[in-house]
Amino acid sequence: MSEILVLAELTPTGVRKATLELLTLARRLGEPAALVCGEATDEVVAALGEFGATKVYAVPAPEVAQFLSLPKAEAVLAVTARSEPAAVLVTSGPEGKDVAARVAVRLDSGLVTDAVDVVVDGGVVTTTQSVVAGAFHVRSQVVRGTPVITVMPNAVTAEAAPVQPRVEAVEVEFSERAKGAAVTSRTPKASSARPDLADASVIVAGGRGIGSEAGLGVIEALADALGGAVGVTRAVSDLHWAPHDLQIGQTGKTVAPALYVAAGVSGAIQHRAGMQSSKTIVAVNKDPKAPIFAIADFGVVGDLHTVLPALVDEVGKRRG
Ligand SMILES: Cc1cc2nc3c(=O)[nH]c(=O)nc-3n(C[C@H](O)[C@H](O)[C@H](O)COP(=O)(O)OP(=O)(O)OC[C@H]3O[C@@H](n4cnc5c(N)ncnc54)[C@H](O)[C@@H]3O)c2cc1C
Repeated sequence: MSEILVLAELTPTGVRKATLELLTLARRLGEPAALVCGEATDEVVAALGEFGATKVYAVPAPEVAQFLSLPKAEAVLAVTARSEPAAVLVTSGPEGKDVAARVAVRLDSGLVTDAVDVVVDGGVVTTTQSVVAGAFHVRSQVVRGTPVITVMPNAVTAEAAPVQPRVEAVEVEFSERAKGAAVTSRTPKASSARPDLADASVIVAGGRGIGSEAGLGVIEALADALGGAVGVTRAVSDLHWAPHDLQIGQTGKTVAPALYVAAGVSGAIQHRAGMQSSKTIVAVNKDPKAPIFAIADFGVVGDLHTVLPALVDEVGKRRG
């Protein structure tokens, strides 16, 4: 069976959930192998093996942390030259897309970004993308070189399939070009107990309908009741009712959770561009003609300040 190379992402506590999703997807396509740029500790290797990585390529080079994305791209290229995988899978996101694009150019291969599904069809790796505010699904096949594919977080549910991975250390000689831009300092973001927006399987998003900065409280309360993340529209971040890094949409983050609750959100095309791939969309809006209802699976016409607290109560009762 051909190898499918997954670029693993590490967190301070282990392996990012999106990487485990990629390994789950890779099992459908061939034999999953993970590339760890950084320290492949026993815990990291065990976590990757738990989700089916039969091989772990370890590139423990300090250059990966000291410089921007080029060393990661060169590490992927070194491993692809060695193992000739049938496809390379990377998590969609600013860094993932940067690395994937550089790898595809250097391999002279086709690149597909933001896939929401990847299957083998007629022996060929075939991707699905959700485009034009979710109005179309596009199926594509890379016809040149090794397919390099970035996959949206939450596109699949991570499922365990434990194996004992073989660890191979890979020495990479980084080019001078890869060391052209160094990271000079890192400031960790003040963390909240909520999941990261990019990885969250539940997102509760508030629009201008929240009415004020204090109105964000009802959004946060429902997000906490559901164990989800908080998102906002650009109207809300432009009004400084919430930080810009919570903005979802064309000029914000692109998300695809299992459940997206949009409250007081009109559903402008630029907002939809960032959340259209969500699996189940619930809209709460007092205007029955709000465009968000056109893409919602469930809708409540009503005032969010009444509907959301009632939902929080109900979730609380059911969780008991
Ligand atoms: C180049 C460009 C890029 C953009 N990028 C983004 C982007 O990345 N993300 C983004 O979100 N937008 C983006 N926008 C802005 C976008 O066009 C919309 O203006 C914005 O999404 C509207 O935000 P909203 O839905 O919160 O506000 P509004 O459109 O004002 O809608 C508020 C909604 O709340 C409802 N409402 C009001 N009170 C209540 C209540 N008490 N209970 C329930 N419902 C209530 C109203 O009926 C209405 O439907 C961009 C625009 C441009 C031009």
